[in-house]
Amino acid sequence: MKVLVIGGGGREHAIAWRVAQAPRVREVLVAPGNAGTALELRTRNVAVAADDVAGLLKLAQAEQVDLTIVGPEGPLVAGVVDAFAAAGLRCFGPRQLSARLEGSKAFMKNFLHRNAIPTAAYATFTRDSFDADWVRAQRAPLVVKADGLAAGKGVVICASTDEAIATAEAMFAGRFGPAGDTVVIEEFLDGEEASFIALVDGAHVLPLATSQDHKRLRDGDQGPNTGGMGAYSPAPVVTPEVHERIMREVMLPTVAALAHEGAPYTGFLYAGIMVMPDGTPKVLEFNCRLGDPETQPIMLRLRSDLAALCEAALDGALDRTSIEWDPRAALGVVIAARGYPDEVRKGDPISGLDEAGDLPGKVFHAGTALAGGKVVVTSGGRVLCAVGLGGSVRAAQQQAYDLVQAISFDGMQFRRDIGHRALDREQMR
Ligand code: AMP
Repeated sequence: MKVLVIGGGGREHAIAWRVAQAPRVREVLVAPGNAGTALELRTRNVAVAADDVAGLLKLAQAEQVDLTIVGPEGPLVAGVVDAFAAAGLRCFGPRQLSARLEGSKAFMKNFLHRNAIPTAAYATFTRDSFDADWVRAQRAPLVVKADGLAAGKGVVICASTDEAIATAEAMFAGRFGPAGDTVVIEEFLDGEEASFIALVDGAHVLPLATSQDHKRLRDGDQGPNTGGMGAYSPAPVVTPEVHERIMREVMLPTVAALAHEGAPYTGFLYAGIMVMPDGTPKVLEFNCRLGDPETQPIMLRLRSDLAALCEAALDGALDRTSIEWDPRAALGVVIAARGYPDEVRKGDPISGLDEAGDLPGKVFHAGTALAGGKVVVTSGGRVLCAVGLGGSVRAAQQQAYDLVQAISFDGMQFRRDIGHRALDREQMR
């Protein structure tokens, strides 16, 4: 079969790499892909942008693609699955109506609220309805979120109510473009985060291995929020009891409510969960796709055929489908360009990729390009994700950092403490 993967980041490299390993998959097209997918066996980049829905449809028809897997949220929110379905093509992801769960935080919070699914207390405002006195009456810290898509950066944790007011006003003034026309202000939750991602077929939920990412730029979870600086799987905070509660209190009611409200959900459903000290799970966010960088360690652990799992979901057969995992831990360290998460420099040559290729583990590309068809250069904020596997988190971490050591480019930055929470737990045992 022929599979098309939409996107060009680290998540898509990991998806394409995993899909290409199934013997029945003849070729994987990646639109637009990166230098990593360009160099992968049985994988071919196609120069169509991830948000060019009409171009993607034309490509899938011309290439007679059997299955399309959508990586990023942009095309989902733009309705790529609806367009493919209307043309009779199999495309795995939620339809536009259900993708609003990620596309609008205000929609998501209201959805959770009316369905009694646990989440932080909140209020939503536009510039006209903004009530600074209401904010002053709340207890800090507060979390201020731009309603729309802002590449993981539209969330600001404010230590004081004055800061929250200033942040909301900056959003109304256009700091995140139209994404900030509506703002959600919510209670700060003090717990431990985990990423809970599942395959959903409209009715059934098949969970993937749990994971945890590191959103802050610097060691010790300091510095600004980013798209994610590293991740590992499994997440020890998700004990069997917490897992059961997330399924019962969050995933199953969410999928049932979406179907009940006329927007049945098919695709990867990612719940960002805050696990409170008493084990109660609260929803921080929903994403309508796999996480980046969580996907990279998850794909290293996945033993099942990913294309077959997506097909089972499209057939509504997840209740009759199982999934197999490498029991070892996987840990990925993101290597970012100078200046990330702000403006970054592009075009720096990357050295050491061949040496890293000879080491155990796997380096997934994100913001990379092939200059002159040969030299791998930086072309985005997050450049690479080095993933290690090991019998313990410590061993997986060692393998990942050995890969990082082999690689260099001017201005590269990475965290040195990815996995620290899991390591703390490992040491407590
Ligand atoms: P979001 O995109 O809504 O998941 O927010 C990005 C990050 O901000 C989350 O992964 C958390 O680390 C943090 N965050 C968001 N909402 C809250 C909250 N209510 N309390 C504490 N931290 C939060």
